[in-house]
Amino acid sequence: MSDCIFCRIVSGEIPAKKIYEDDLVVAFHDINPIAPVHFLVIPKVHVASMAELTDEHEAVMGRVMTVAGRLAREQGATDGFRTIINTGRVGRQEVYHLHVHILGGPEVLPAML
Ligand code: AMP
Repeated sequence: MSDCIFCRIVSGEIPAKKIYEDDLVVAFHDINPIAPVHFLVIPKVHVASMAELTDEHEAVMGRVMTVAGRLAREQGATDGFRTIINTGRVGRQEVYHLHVHILGGPEVLPAML
């Protein structure tokens, strides 16, 4: 059994509110949402963080990004959304399985940068 919580969501060992799944990626609602629309898109293959990506991940990461944009619109983020990838200690990454946060909703989100 993997000790990676997102690998266990991929395998179905632990439940998640899945929005979408295909051969390469899974999308599910964040368990602790900080915006009206807040979901994660992850590669099924275990990659610890964005810092570990290699050329062999180009196809799966292309899928992650195209799925993220399509699902954002379908989930109601029709006026735009924020995309966040936290990487490593300095990036405040908590779960070491690469994931893209999609944040949106009817209201304009507070400025970050
Ligand atoms: P970070 O690694 O800092 O990008 O944050 C990890 C995100 O994963 C947080 O927003 C958590 O709320 C979310 N999270 C952790 N465990 C789960 C889970 N079992 N299902 C859905 N989201 C989760």
